Amino acid sequence: MPVPLLDVNAQNSPLESELQAAFTQVLKHGRFIMGPEMETFEKEIAAMTGAKHALAVSSGTDALLLALMALDIKPGDEVLCPAFTFFATAGAVSRLGAVPVFTDICPVCFNLDVNDAKAKITPKTKAIIPVHLFGQCADMDPILALAKEHNLRVIEDAAQSIGSQYKGRQSGTMGDFGTYSFFPSKNLGGFGDGGMLVTNDDGLAEFARVLRNHGAKPKYYHQYVGGNFRMDTLQCALLSVKVKRYAQYTSERQRNATHYTAELLKLPGVVQADPAHCKCTATQDAWLAANNAKIVLPVSYAHNDHIWNQFTLRVIGEGKRDSLLAHLQAHKIGCEVYYPVTLDQQQCFADLPATSRAGCEISHRLAGEVLSIPIYGELTEAQRLEVVAAIASWL
Ligand SMILES: *Cc1c(COP(=O)(O)O)cnc(C)c1O
Repeated sequence: MPVPLLDVNAQNSPLESELQAAFTQVLKHGRFIMGPEMETFEKEIAAMTGAKHALAVSSGTDALLLALMALDIKPGDEVLCPAFTFFATAGAVSRLGAVPVFTDICPVCFNLDVNDAKAKITPKTKAIIPVHLFGQCADMDPILALAKEHNLRVIEDAAQSIGSQYKGRQSGTMGDFGTYSFFPSKNLGGFGDGGMLVTNDDGLAEFARVLRNHGAKPKYYHQYVGGNFRMDTLQCALLSVKVKRYAQYTSERQRNATHYTAELLKLPGVVQADPAHCKCTATQDAWLAANNAKIVLPVSYAHNDHIWNQFTLRVIGEGKRDSLLAHLQAHKIGCEVYYPVTLDQQQCFADLPATSRAGCEISHRLAGEVLSIPIYGELTEAQRLEVVAAIASWL
């Protein structure tokens, strides 16, 4: 039985009549730009995350760009962000003429290494973008402390982690801004592009709101150069149908992660990452060797509520990841490498100063080891066991 990496229809088809009704409502009133459903959806996201202000925007990428614009990030400014993330995190920085300075990551949680970030701060550093990768929050307490000490703005790239928590606090609500994405493969997946910018700061919210609509205030009077960063009324109406079910979607993903972990740990050569090895590769390598580890399962830190946007294995040993990838593909098990090339090694950043691309060794290593397997909520137990069996037959 083939198992796809993601099956959006499995989640959306049961909602067809409600989605049709939402569409009909928008069709009838015809307010396609910034219509009433946009405000409703913004309020729903604010209520769900506890953010004071939520602004619906055209995508997770534009949410990042808008946040950086509202924080007045300018050409020549430096912005710290992890080397191991989706491109948009650094792309938004670069589009404003600012310089992304890449930090290495923790090999346990895949998130930004705050000690490395600290070492890369210069007088030009203006902001830091922790990414809550794969659905788990970065270690925000030390990140926020570092930002405070050096007067840095904090934008949380929470595209993959809406609803996840760090020590009881919602991802996206701990920094100056948080950004979410409703790209169909994200945990709150839409029907096209969409995103949300959240903040607890009244002034920043107001400025971002003006910039979202060409910097016009009032209409046709432009004190600032903004852009068109609006989210369609229709997209908001459709996503309101799904937001009500979000807690259920999350618990399904968490159930899948728990099941995979229990089943995969029965196999020889499979271990689960140990939070004690956070940022400590020397110890970790000795431990991997002592345990004869071939595959390392991801782990949720005890202080985090992980929402499992991805379930990402580390496959240890030269060429082993590509071997498992080919094996799973041959067994028609969907899988994907997030991400095969770190950002410091992207061609478009080749002429950045060498200092902004230095010291990302763990990121480079993980780019050769990671493999994400199906984790979407609607997976059946039989499908999960099929994935486990395919991995077992490779080991
Ligand atoms: C998906 C994603 C984005 C961009 O979101 P879009 O809505 O696709 O523009 C940004 N950062 C991360 C980490 C992402 O995973």
